[in-house]
Amino acid sequence: MPKIISAAMPEIEFKARPVKGVSFYIGENVVDSITDHADIGYTENKEVLGLLIGRVLKDDEGIYVKAEDAVTSGLDADETSVRFNKDAIESLFESIDKCKGDSVVGWYHSHLGIGCFLSDVDIRTHTGVFGDEAGFAVVIDPSDSTLAAFSCGSDGPQKIRMIIMI
Ligand SMILES: [Zn+2]
Repeated sequence: MPKIISAAMPEIEFKARPVKGVSFYIGENVVDSITDHADIGYTENKEVLGLLIGRVLKDDEGIYVKAEDAVTSGLDADETSVRFNKDAIESLFESIDKCKGDSVVGWYHSHLGIGCFLSDVDIRTHTGVFGDEAGFAVVIDPSDSTLAAFSCGSDGPQKIRMIIMI
């Protein structure tokens, strides 16, 4: 089973973050893969969904994460909702096992033409998986190729800065 990230994890590597004040770093390959996935869904008029796998690090500012891979699996989706197909969970975990990183650091999903934000359902999904620990939600709108990242603490969702790593 993959680890859900948690500030309580004892063995987090201490390493200064690349950019002060930024807690979320994402590989360019990950952005390419999730935007491609969202574009495919868009042609089928369906939202898409997946998990972001990577590493949790810490420095003097606290916890930050690097998303190094995106994984997905079979989905039940239409134009306004998406979830993992029950039969697809096993293959999802197999895909996670093949990733370099060992932590689920976030998730992504698409919105079709309504812009990038976290809906009430999204917030419930997010807090159901990550609680109020650091975990990041990336929302993509393939209708105008926009993408935004959010954290979701006790004071609700907040759009955050994200650095794309080449
Ligand atoms: Zn949503």
